[in-house]
Amino acid sequence: MPMKPKRPCRYSGCPKLTDHKSGYCEAHRKMMQRHYEHFARGYDNHKRYDEAWRRIRNRYISSHPLCEICQSQGRFAEAKLVHHIKPLAEGGTNDESNLQSLCVSCHERIHKRGSRAD
Ligand SMILES: [Zn+2]
Ligand SMILES: [Zn+2]
Ligand SMILES: [Zn+2]
Repeated sequence: MPMKPKRPCRYSGCPKLTDHKSGYCEAHRKMMQRHYEHFARGYDNHKRYDEAWRRIRNRYISSHPLCEICQSQGRFAEAKLVHHIKPLAEGGTNDESNLQSLCVSCHERIHKRGSRAD
């Protein structure tokens, strides 16, 4: 049976040859693994952020218990979630001026209309 041909490590500039299916030599496989763990640790920060956001949201929704869109149209619906008028991804903040209490159906309508929330 012929030997599997070894290829150069995929890590640019690495002179080692490897036949591992990842395409990386052993040292670089370990390095990529560390990268992955580093990446996974990032989720902890995200969790802490979520807790801070939950507090802001709970405070906002308790002072704005009704869906603001329904209310502006003369209907009364219990707010179920707090929406970012300008998404965080577009530079929006958790400031009350950027928040809106919404019922589930109004919130879905906003998000279905596209990524731009008004
Ligand atoms: Zn390598
Ligand atoms: Zn509503
Ligand atoms: Zn939303």
